[in-house]
Amino acid sequence: MNNQDCIFCKIVSGEIPCFKIYETDQILSFLDIGPVNKGHALIIPKEHYKNIWDLPSDLGKEIISAAQIAGDSIVKATGADGLNLIMNNNEAAGQLVFHAHLHLIPRFNEDGLKHWDQSEYKNMDEAMALAQKIEKMIKGIN
Ligand code: AMP
Ligand code: ZN
Repeated sequence: MNNQDCIFCKIVSGEIPCFKIYETDQILSFLDIGPVNKGHALIIPKEHYKNIWDLPSDLGKEIISAAQIAGDSIVKATGADGLNLIMNNNEAAGQLVFHAHLHLIPRFNEDGLKHWDQSEYKNMDEAMALAQKIEKMIKGIN
């Protein structure tokens, strides 16, 4: 089901143009209009799903497979030294377009982009307790 107010659904339907780089029956990949580095691309499912949790896992596999294929050619075409795959889920994580998408960002040795600052756990007990809490939730859900 596509969403009439969604900019990426409009790209899928052809209502809004894009610089397409790759397509299968289920996914579309095109250049991000505001690239972090030139060659920055997005992979989207053609169907409207809002984020990682909404996305059927088979489609997730198709997106990762597309990332391997398109990512290889992005690296070769731009002469990049590396590639970041990033998915923002929910506003707090920086998601601006609520149609699930994976960012493919070519990286260069001297591009000057910084990774996030890291923090730390108070002690090993805090890390252990949180790991166990997450593990229990996973077991409860699956
Ligand atoms: P996010 O913050 O993960 O939701 O990223 C949304 C991305 O979509 C941003 O990097 C935008 O530059 C990109 N974007 C928005 N509109 C378009 C468009 N019409 N064509 C290509 N990329 C777009
Ligand atoms: Zn959409």
